[in-house]
Amino acid sequence: MRRVSREEAHGLLRTRSRAKSDRVLVERVADAGGLLHGHFLQQAGAHSEFFLRYAAVGRDADLNRRIAEVLCATDEMKGAKDKDATVLCPESAGFYLGSAVAQAQDWSLAVAAIDLGRRPGRTLRRGALAPGGLVVIVNDVATTGGGLLALLDLAHRAHAKVVGVAVAAAAEPTALVKAMKARGLWTAWAFKTLWPHAPAGEGCAACDAGEPLLPAAEFN
Ligand SMILES: [Zn+2]
Repeated sequence: MRRVSREEAHGLLRTRSRAKSDRVLVERVADAGGLLHGHFLQQAGAHSEFFLRYAAVGRDADLNRRIAEVLCATDEMKGAKDKDATVLCPESAGFYLGSAVAQAQDWSLAVAAIDLGRRPGRTLRRGALAPGGLVVIVNDVATTGGGLLALLDLAHRAHAKVVGVAVAAAAEPTALVKAMKARGLWTAWAFKTLWPHAPAGEGCAACDAGEPLLPAAEFN
């Protein structure tokens, strides 16, 4: 396993806006050790050659704040800015981004406990969700939104009203936006990840080469 260089990072992360200031963030993610090359088992079961390790990004407080600002500058987030909302994020790496978004939007923060597999569970570690209160779900990475379902469920069971989701990186932004729209939610994202995911290891070159599989959750 190794860190990805600045040069290589541009081929792995694309920013939603083509602004130069956002493209610099791609290099800063690489500098922070946020992009790893290896053979990873994603939480949803797919294998991938690269992994966005948001824990490393989040520990760079300035970089994390900048990524939160990119999200907060999207039309989706600007439209919600004046509302009194609560950010719901997991206590894993998504917590870094969730707290920065809550601070930037002047919203309250609720943090979901995670289970032993580092997936968000059904209880809150801190904060509260008010019945009828507006909620924006924030996490580090999403593919088609399956990993956000536990957080959606947690909010629904508290009778809170989820209005949107915001993620640092989306593997399939179009599919994610569509899946969330079907639930009546908007989606904000800052980066698109450009590497392929092999479903459950099928057609995975690293598997064929016999490379040991690294559970991605252990790096966050
Ligand atoms: Zn594999």
